[in-house]
This record gives sequence, C-alpha cells and structure tokens, in this order.
Amino acid sequence: MRSVMAYDPQNIFAKILRGEIPCTKVFENEWVLAFHDIAPQAPVHVLVIPKGAYVSQDDFTAKATDAEIAGLWRAVGQIARDLEVAEPGYRTVQNTGTNGGQEVPHFHVHICGGRRLGRMIPE
Ligand code: 5GP
Repeated sequence: MRSVMAYDPQNIFAKILRGEIPCTKVFENEWVLAFHDIAPQAPVHVLVIPKGAYVSQDDFTAKATDAEIAGLWRAVGQIARDLEVAEPGYRTVQNTGTNGGQEVPHFHVHICGGRRLGRMIPE
C-alpha cells in the first residue's frame, strides 16, 4: 500500500482554520474556507481549503468522502462566480508534493483570474 505523509496540525493553513492566524476570508461553509493568497500572482488569487485534515490533492482524493469532495468543488465554482471570474475565465491549480511545488501541506485549490494568464508549466 502506498503511504502519504502524515498531516501536520501545525501547518499554516491548519492555524488559519483554527483562527490562530488571520486571513482575509472570502467564503466559508461547512466544507471549506476560502481566503486571499498572501502573495497574489493575479488580480484574483484565492485559496480554497477543505475543513478536513488532508495533506494534499493526493491525500484528499484517496481519503475524503464523496460529500467532502463535492462540497469543495461546488464551493470552488461558487467562489469563482461570486468573484466574477467565471467569465471570461480563470485557472485552478493544485500543487501536489515536492515535484508539484506544494509549499503548504494542507490541501488547497488556487483560484487565479482577473487577467489573461500565461501558459502553464513555465519552468
Ligand atoms: P502551494 O505552493 O503550497 O501550492 O501554495 C501555497 C500558497 O499559500 C502560496 O501561494 C502562498 O503565497 C500562500 N500562503 C503561504 N502562507 C500564507 C499565509 O499565511 N496566508 C495566506 N493567505 N496565504 C499564504
């Protein structure tokens, strides 16, 4: 059986979820919290995180319930519409693990928009 890195409850997004560190919240429901990225790469750059303790996209898709997965992706779509980037479009990014460039080990979806974005995978 494959192994996934253990969840670290001291990661920065866990602290944000517990209210120990502030964030600029844009949306919250029973499944997710969404807030502005501290170092935005686009005019709109929001992070959507599940309330459950999942390390990464890999961990989330292996262990989360169908309700958690649906709750997260419904929220991503709703937030993009609320922020008025659904038209003319936006990008979601989920960096996973070392090769994916993931820095914070709590699963998160980046929503980036507000301008025409460059091509993917620049390096
Ligand atoms: P990753 O590279 O893990 O996919 O993305 C982590 C993201 O979290 C980065 O875009 C980074 O700017 C953002 N970030 C890191 N620390 C904080 C923080 O304390 N608050 C907020 N709002 N964003 C953070």
